[in-house]
Amino acid sequence: MPVFQEPRVRVGTGYDSHRFAEGRPLILGGVTIPHSHGLTGHSDADAVAHAITDALLGAAALGDIGQMFPDTDPANKNADSLRLLSDVVERLRAERCLVQQVDATVIIERPKLAPFVDEMRTRLAAAMKIDRRNVSVKAKTNEGMGFIGRGEGVAVLAVATVLG
Ligand code: MG
Repeated sequence: MPVFQEPRVRVGTGYDSHRFAEGRPLILGGVTIPHSHGLTGHSDADAVAHAITDALLGAAALGDIGQMFPDTDPANKNADSLRLLSDVVERLRAERCLVQQVDATVIIERPKLAPFVDEMRTRLAAAMKIDRRNVSVKAKTNEGMGFIGRGEGVAVLAVATVLG
């Protein structure tokens, strides 16, 4: 049995979805976006941060965001998801896993996210303590189809690589 293993690139995927509701802020990638509806959830419902968090945990095989931050824990109520993301990066560091790069795709019918993508990248990169050139956020519609097309909610896919 080898006792030492060279660091290697490990890949993880993440997915998250949240439902739109009136009277909630719309927070994606740590940016508050002006819109008639926000997303429901126990935390601040930042689906971009959540999908990336799960991708990082997946890459390190450390479980998932629900295990790490249970929605039964009052401490996580309305939690700042960038803080959760930051906590997970520290957890990975403790396991000798360094975040290399993340890429997220937000699937949302409205509003248009293009004006906010740069700020999302900046905030997500700061939370993960990596260069923003290693943080990609892309947005697209679902061409009017399904729950996203009807404006009922948003979904996010993410991929992350870590060295560890
Ligand atoms: Mg979530």
